[in-house]
Amino acid sequence: MIASHLLAYFFTELNHDQAQKVDKYLYHMRLSEDTLQEVSERFRKEMEKGLGADTNPTASVKMLPSFVRSTPDGTEDGDFLALDLGGTNFRVLRVKVSDNGLQKVEMESQIYEIHEDLMRGSGTQLFDHIAECLANFMEKLKIKEKKLPLGFTFSFPCHQTKLDESILVNWTKGFKCSSVEGKDVVSLLRKAIKRRGDFDIDIVAVVNDTVGTMMSCGYDDQNCEVGLIVGTGTNACYMEEMRHIDLVEGDEGRMCINMEWGAFGDDGVLNDIRTEFDHEIDMGSLNPGKQLEKEGLQKAHEILTKLGLEPSHEDCLATHRICQIVSTRSANLCGATLAAVLRRIKENKGVDRLRSTVGVDGSVYKKHPHFARRLHKTVRKLLPDCEIRFVRSEDGSGKGAAMVTAVAYRLAAQHKARQKILEALKLSHEQLLEVKRRMRVEMEKGLGKETHVEATVKMLPTYVCSTPDGTEKGDFLALDLGGTNFRVLLVRVRNGMRRGVEMHNKIYSIPLEVMQGTGEELFDHIVHCIADFLEYMGMKGVSLPLGFTFSFPCMQTNLDEGILLKWTKGFKATGCEGEDVVSLLKEAIHRREEFDLDVVAVVNDTVGTMMACGYEDPYCEVGLIVGTGSNACYMEEMRNVELVEGDEGRMCVNMEWGAFGDNGCLDDIQTEFDLAVDELSLNPGKQRFEKMISGMYLGEIVRNILINFTRRGLLFRGRISERLKTRGIFETKFLSQIESDCLALLQVRSILQHLGLESTCDDSIIVKEVCTVVARRAAQLCGAGMAAVVDKIRENRGLDFLKVTVGVDGTLYKLHPHFSAIMQDTVRQLSPCCEVTFLQSEDGSGKGAALITAVACRIREAGQRRKDPHGAEPSDATSCPIGPSFPWTLPVLFPPPPTCTGGEALGMGVPLHHLALRSCVTSPCPLAVAPNLPFSSLFFSLI
Ligand code: ADP
Ligand code: MG
Repeated sequence: MIASHLLAYFFTELNHDQAQKVDKYLYHMRLSEDTLQEVSERFRKEMEKGLGADTNPTASVKMLPSFVRSTPDGTEDGDFLALDLGGTNFRVLRVKVSDNGLQKVEMESQIYEIHEDLMRGSGTQLFDHIAECLANFMEKLKIKEKKLPLGFTFSFPCHQTKLDESILVNWTKGFKCSSVEGKDVVSLLRKAIKRRGDFDIDIVAVVNDTVGTMMSCGYDDQNCEVGLIVGTGTNACYMEEMRHIDLVEGDEGRMCINMEWGAFGDDGVLNDIRTEFDHEIDMGSLNPGKQLEKEGLQKAHEILTKLGLEPSHEDCLATHRICQIVSTRSANLCGATLAAVLRRIKENKGVDRLRSTVGVDGSVYKKHPHFARRLHKTVRKLLPDCEIRFVRSEDGSGKGAAMVTAVAYRLAAQHKARQKILEALKLSHEQLLEVKRRMRVEMEKGLGKETHVEATVKMLPTYVCSTPDGTEKGDFLALDLGGTNFRVLLVRVRNGMRRGVEMHNKIYSIPLEVMQGTGEELFDHIVHCIADFLEYMGMKGVSLPLGFTFSFPCMQTNLDEGILLKWTKGFKATGCEGEDVVSLLKEAIHRREEFDLDVVAVVNDTVGTMMACGYEDPYCEVGLIVGTGSNACYMEEMRNVELVEGDEGRMCVNMEWGAFGDNGCLDDIQTEFDLAVDELSLNPGKQRFEKMISGMYLGEIVRNILINFTRRGLLFRGRISERLKTRGIFETKFLSQIESDCLALLQVRSILQHLGLESTCDDSIIVKEVCTVVARRAAQLCGAGMAAVVDKIRENRGLDFLKVTVGVDGTLYKLHPHFSAIMQDTVRQLSPCCEVTFLQSEDGSGKGAALITAVACRIREAGQRRKDPHGAEPSDATSCPIGPSFPWTLPVLFPPPPTCTGGEALGMGVPLHHLALRSCVTSPCPLAVAPNLPFSSLFFSLI
């Protein structure tokens, strides 16, 4: 069109001048690379404007969401129908796509006429006609009895609201049917089919022809993520990240955006680039001259002659030259905008080098002898860091519409299959209530004298009868064994003005062969680490009171004695189960003959956590660990702890809840994936609750689900990699990373890539969903267990309402982005009569162990004083109870003499500094048995 206009101009104004003159005259129509970059840059800004919710209304490039969220992956399969209305012809098509490894597409189609009067009649008439054509077509192919899915290419300006809902904005291309504008064309078609009643069809998608072009090419080339049409008009679409599409809810995955880029420049942003010829064309002053697209002087002569001119040789030369310049400019401009799109895709993907494919349709691109080459050249020049492939689409509006439908069908079927599998991992409120109820039953069993032996939730007494009161002080050693690492700590606890805890620690690894070797090797290794630590701290030969955080199920008969019941969390050292771990440690110390240690307390990490948090929050009466393993402890009434004599006061009970379910009581919620993880673990059949909750297992559960999905062809295109089959490659930390909201899916993809798993964008969404479901179940189960605990505490005290704090430790709890929120939510729902605060512990196994040791030392000293009534009264200047070898600079102060303040003070949260040795106190302080005491009103009683 532009060319013909120029010609007219040329003939009148230049009077048959020669070719150079044309060049000179049209010099400004040649766009330099800089100008093209500039156009590209401006287009890019327009794209952003179109995507933004606030800027879209005034944007010239409308960036319409197509609701097509995925491109073909080659596994599409089935029999589809397509309608193509709004192109040169109205057509009905049948497209058979087969996934037999050959990726075959068979198409049959028929063109039907739409009379002029129908184009301007009523909408009802038009859609009745379309339905009739469909009926006729199906009859001919003998498929009228089948309810086939259909894709509808409707090439008019539409406002699409769903994949199968599209509202006609206004008719174009000669159509003007009444009562269609402003209506959803899919429902109009559905109604027309229903009116006939002789066949049924499943209209799945309304498609724009650019989208169809991208999708039809995408079937053969899965890198295809752009569709381009250069025909009568020009337009393009591409896959945009959902998070950038303000107009559609949701941030995940991608969606094809129909740019409607023909309108670029409507708001004047290209005015400095447009020429006066463009302006005149806009004014409609000339007729279209499609023929001028053909090249060659011969053609020029023919064409000019046909136009009724008598061209000279110079005329032909000039005409040829003009056409060349105009079509080059057109290809250049198209290339500049396309480059903007590709650059955006590249940035979205965050890759250094983009490999992408553009599917193209339209007669200008396909038939002009040089257009395609020039377009490619421009794109490559503007994007030297991209490898762009151009693929000609065959029948984008027919095959493409079918392909959109095929992809939607595949996605829906796969989604359904996956949901069915994931359903087993989704727990209802009723199921969670039931878990809570069962946990309660198991807790009672563990506490009862008669039932304890066969109980799986062991409810072990810890001989810790109170949480700290803030008067603790001194220097202590702490060991932390039972997690990822072994640590030795030096802890200084201060009271008074400088109240606080200061810690130094060194982390040691425990090699697998030691974890699973002999007990002697394990404890020798531990002692070796302690010796190294003392030397490192410059404290060789020093003897400090020691708290041993030993986070395995132990039967305690004393604070400083713990008999290992069974190893968990990957430990398996021989000769330890059934033995007192303090004795094992002491023996190892003796074997080394280098130093002595005063082991004061064996502490479970849950108890340490509760103590560390209790130091900060007087309401903390529960400890929870969600790390490598999972476990909890809480303050139980002594009268309920049947394994320990005495009914007064409370004692912390280490629940060892990880073993919940080991008697089969959770079998109904266990899935095949849990069983698979259990089977390959070191302790099959054991710790079933823990195996659904904790860090050591969640990644493995996810991996097993991914394998299942892949085997069924629901993920990774059904290709199972060796990597995926490797145990442990999917670490639980990936669950956190993948679910982290700030991470875009492409980062999920890079995590998967790092694992050697080649994934598409859809794969990433699926993997993320699996992670979500697995972590959610873990958090909910943990919440159900917690609900049982807090409700028991509440009932123990006969309260209608309980306010309580849970001290929590463990990397999974701390670092997973949603675990804590889901767990808290579950507790709220399952225990509405409790207000539960969760407090993260800072190093419960170090600080907590030291605090327990501190209090125990204090009590021991108090006991010694009682035994020696003639001894000096304790004073603030008393040295450390551990003896003269204490080397540290600061004199360690004793707590102020114990006091017992009245109940009225307690209500105001004033701590009660009460130190009582249960065995020595003749009449227990009445507060010791008073219900509902805030925990800081302290009793420390040791049996
Ligand atoms: P432990 O329980 O061994 O004392 P942690 O509380 O640090 O130690 O928990 C370690 C466990 O936490 C590991 O088993 C690992 O699976 C898990 N983990 C590590 N990093 C993360 C993370 N970023 N998100 C969730 N879990 C994690
Ligand atoms: Mg730990």
